[in-house]
Amino acid sequence: MVRENEIRENEVAIEPPVPADAGLVFIGRISTPWTSRMETPRQGRHDGPLCRIEIFEPWVPALKGVESFERLEILYWLDRSRRDLVLQSPGSNGKVHGTFSLRSPVRPNPIGTSVVTLEAVEGAVLLVRGLDCLDGTPLLDLKPDRSLFKPIAPPQPGDFQTGDDRTAHYCQKA
Ligand code: SAM
Repeated sequence: MVRENEIRENEVAIEPPVPADAGLVFIGRISTPWTSRMETPRQGRHDGPLCRIEIFEPWVPALKGVESFERLEILYWLDRSRRDLVLQSPGSNGKVHGTFSLRSPVRPNPIGTSVVTLEAVEGAVLLVRGLDCLDGTPLLDLKPDRSLFKPIAPPQPGDFQTGDDRTAHYCQKA
């Protein structure tokens, strides 16, 4: 069952801390056919309907080069989600799962991600398939699908590092 905002059997909500500003800016808006969570796909599909991503100024020049990627990774803000559940029951059957073991929109920082197929770039607008968000969802970021992207900057030492470093201090208990 899709949630409006209700709490289900055995779910646990906490009193969330007052959000501190992470400094995010909405860089655009996503238009999709879905106005109700009851209809929105759980996960987007590459043969799904065409959706429109509008990029706001002053970010439009940042689109330079995106047209050369067949697929993009899109990050968006699931703005109509509650943010206070630590245990959730997606099946509404009393069985609960930790929020971080789910891809539910209900999470402390409701960031959604999808890999989409890029169909066209028309100025400040991208036409894509593969989204699963409500019409009007704010856009946080977009970047090439990592499987299509080769870093342009020269590699760093860490790029050649394998295995564990026995001197590693960062894994040790305090
Ligand atoms: N693909 C993303 C991910 O894995 O991070 C999101 C998956 S989430 C399960 C998709 C669901 O989030 C939709 O089915 C809908 O119920 C809900 N949703 C979509 N847009 C939303 C929005 N703007 N605010 C709150 N909930 C939203």
